Amino acid sequence: MAEEKAIEEIIILGTGPAGLSAALYAARADLKPLVLTGAEIGGQAALTDRIENYPGFPEGVGGNELADLFQKNAELFGARFEYDAATEVDLTVRPFIVKTYSKDYFAKTLILTTGATSNKLNIPGENEFRGRGVSYCATCDGWFFKGKKVAVVGGGDSALEEAIFLTRYATSVTIIHRRDTLRAGAILQDRAKDNPKIHFIWDTVITNIAGTEGVEKVRLKNVKDEKESEMDFDGVFVFIGHSPNTELFKGQIDLDDKGYIVVDNRLRTKIPGVFAAGEVCDPIYRQVVTSAGMGAAAAIEATRFLENE
Ligand code: NAP
Repeated sequence: MAEEKAIEEIIILGTGPAGLSAALYAARADLKPLVLTGAEIGGQAALTDRIENYPGFPEGVGGNELADLFQKNAELFGARFEYDAATEVDLTVRPFIVKTYSKDYFAKTLILTTGATSNKLNIPGENEFRGRGVSYCATCDGWFFKGKKVAVVGGGDSALEEAIFLTRYATSVTIIHRRDTLRAGAILQDRAKDNPKIHFIWDTVITNIAGTEGVEKVRLKNVKDEKESEMDFDGVFVFIGHSPNTELFKGQIDLDDKGYIVVDNRLRTKIPGVFAAGEVCDPIYRQVVTSAGMGAAAAIEATRFLENE
């Protein structure tokens, strides 16, 4: 006799704060959610050295540690984690189909929390020296720059937070920003400006990264007077925002002009039973606490959807 296919009540794609909170809430509703982890557990938050604005942790908490606590909390109530990544989804049929590297899964509802990925500068040398001096994660790679000189590109919270982190290792950290005003919040701005290891180069972009074995120098262009120059660096850390991971869903649900999933105020996509939460559908707040809140809300909505079916 052919084996009957298992149909999950809820499959959650992604394990950032949104996915893990959705898992907790769906588990608490006794729906035994299946979470497909994707490549990196904990999402971008897990790559953060210290999170100081997640309520309840006045001393701050490590990004990895927080992700771990979220996961344990969800597992405690029955969430199941598959260490696999979706390669294809079919939202045109019910149950929905999620294909992974190892098998096909079927689900009555889906919560999409696939997050976002670091933007690239798209300049010569960036790809070539990726992992050999070019990095998008100070927590992951900072240690390799002990006693070295690094550049940080960007003027937002990420750039400043990561630049401050890099001063633990590097002898000097130069923030290269394309304007003369930072986008980052006031506290981080003050901390960065007070740090003797941090220097700023304003109104400037990097146009080329060069070296032999690893990064050795960058070409700079002042965007106001167009003057070009060169500076020696051992590493270039790029923090210029993120783009949503929505390739899998293209053509099946509505995406906005920047690729973010379009949801209504109850986190519903245009397909009944498919919800989204976190940075994959949030170009505005993108905080651990807001993503976690959205994940919880999406799981409540999915639970109600199942009850009403
Ligand atoms: P962001 O706020 O979008 O900042 C990106 C920065 O990169 C901006 O300064 C931008 O310049 C610059 N930039 C963009 N494209 C560029 C390019 N092609 N070349 C050179 N520079 C470029 O991104 P983020 O810093 O990753 O932050 C994302 C979200 O996460 C924000 O909402 C932020 O508040 C949040 N976050 C919060 C914390 C915290 O609260 N501690 C920490 C990290 C992130 P312009 O300013 O000229 O646009």
